Amino acid sequence: MIELVEVSKEYGDFRALDRVSLTVPDGGIFGVIGHSGAGKSTLLRLINQLERPTAGSVRLNGTELTGLSERRLRAHRREIGMVFQQFNLFKSRTVLGNVAYPLRLAGLPRPVVRQRALEALEFVGLGEYAKRHPEQLSGGQRQRVGIARALANSPKVLLSDEATSALDPETTLEVLDLFRRINTELGVTIVLITHEMDVLRRICDRVAVLDGGRLVETGDAYRVFAHP
Ligand code: ADP
Ligand code: ADP
Repeated sequence: MIELVEVSKEYGDFRALDRVSLTVPDGGIFGVIGHSGAGKSTLLRLINQLERPTAGSVRLNGTELTGLSERRLRAHRREIGMVFQQFNLFKSRTVLGNVAYPLRLAGLPRPVVRQRALEALEFVGLGEYAKRHPEQLSGGQRQRVGIARALANSPKVLLSDEATSALDPETTLEVLDLFRRINTELGVTIVLITHEMDVLRRICDRVAVLDGGRLVETGDAYRVFAHP
């Protein structure tokens, strides 16, 4: 479970997030929607502790993250996988090398790295593409490599920052189906941010709506979208 309590984030004297409190329960798909500049990416960076809040508290399964040392934070970050809009793959590395990267950072032995990276690639349906390079793949395939990399460390939580925004509608649906499988088959909690209402409606069970750094609404997806 992820809990944010009265979290604010300021950049200089600009307040990107303003006293946001929300709870992401385990096991679901949680959507964060809002216009550009609403604070969505900031929220994700606070959850994986790439940034620390100016005020308030961020808890992961009851552990207060905000005061932890970098060394202890690294262990928590390994429980969180992250997927990006522009995939963020290394061009110079093979598909397998990209997926293996976080496992190598974690210091696992080579054969274990290789096996887990291959398993993650197979899960996303790209086992045959291990030796290719990212530029030899389509956008949707590249994003699946990004997702395999995020899964390689067997995270409990997957964070997605506009993972489908650079993809066409058909490929978007494929990636959303993959998210659903990750959620149901692997039991991974997903927090995804999007500016596309369709994405939320299709797969999220709970949603939060951000506007100008404030949480304006949160709850079950069908309730939040029920009113005219
Ligand atoms: P969203 O993801 O909803 O588009 P962001 O979280 O990226 O919004 O940004 C929220 C606001 O905070 C924006 O106005 C943005 O310009 C500002 N912001 C984000 N990161 C920084 C930063 N590192 N320094 C200064 N301002 C930032
Ligand atoms: P450094 O040792 O300088 O951090 P790296 O080779 O680790 O260099 O990373 C190079 C760039 O790729 C950095 O900008 C880093 O933020 C980014 N990067 C590193 N690991 C990942 C990852 N797993 N997913 C996405 N981007 C990453």
